[in-house]
Amino acid sequence: MTRGFYIGRFQPYHNGHQAVLEQVATSVDEIVIGVGSAQLSHELENPFTAGERVLMITRSLALLDRPIYVIPIEDIQRNALWVSHVKSMTPPFDRVFSSNPLVMRLFAESGHRVHSPELYERQTHSGTAIRRRMLSDEPWEHLVPQAVVRVIREIDGVERLRQIAQSD
Ligand code: NAD
Repeated sequence: MTRGFYIGRFQPYHNGHQAVLEQVATSVDEIVIGVGSAQLSHELENPFTAGERVLMITRSLALLDRPIYVIPIEDIQRNALWVSHVKSMTPPFDRVFSSNPLVMRLFAESGHRVHSPELYERQTHSGTAIRRRMLSDEPWEHLVPQAVVRVIREIDGVERLRQIAQSD
């Protein structure tokens, strides 16, 4: 039994994350997905709540033939203790998948094997680029799984982003 761990902010969850997780699923029996910065929402960089991001991920991966555990994880002030914090919140895992340099470094220093998946069309598939498109009324729906489009519509997510971008 091998269990892989993958963490992101998923603001929002997009096709790049989905491509990585579909690939990860071919090499482990179960996947633990950390929803990072779980305490943040209603900000330009972090518009969606942890619960909304859990919905985006679980619905997008509903057809994956591997058990997944989606766990919100709040940030802490001490990077040196962060891996222990993560492990206190998650089922045990033996492999870590990440392309985030800080995440890779912290897990490697604590003795974990870290695999770095290839980035999928990074120019267009990034949370920053997708949020920018939402704000400027450009098409963004093709960059995320259909399930994510539905969640963002259900919660009126684009309007939320536009409203918090305004000044009083
Ligand atoms: P993210 O959603 O930007 O990315 C998640 C993962 O997807 C990363 O590995 C990233 O490299 C990858 N990715 C992004 N675009 C991709 C693409 N087009 N194709 C393939 N892969 C792609 O999230 P993130 O910022 O990497 O999340 C890390 C989380 O860990 C954050 O919430 C951060 O706050 C948290 N963290 C917290 C601490 C602490 O609390 N002290 C320390 C380290 C990390």
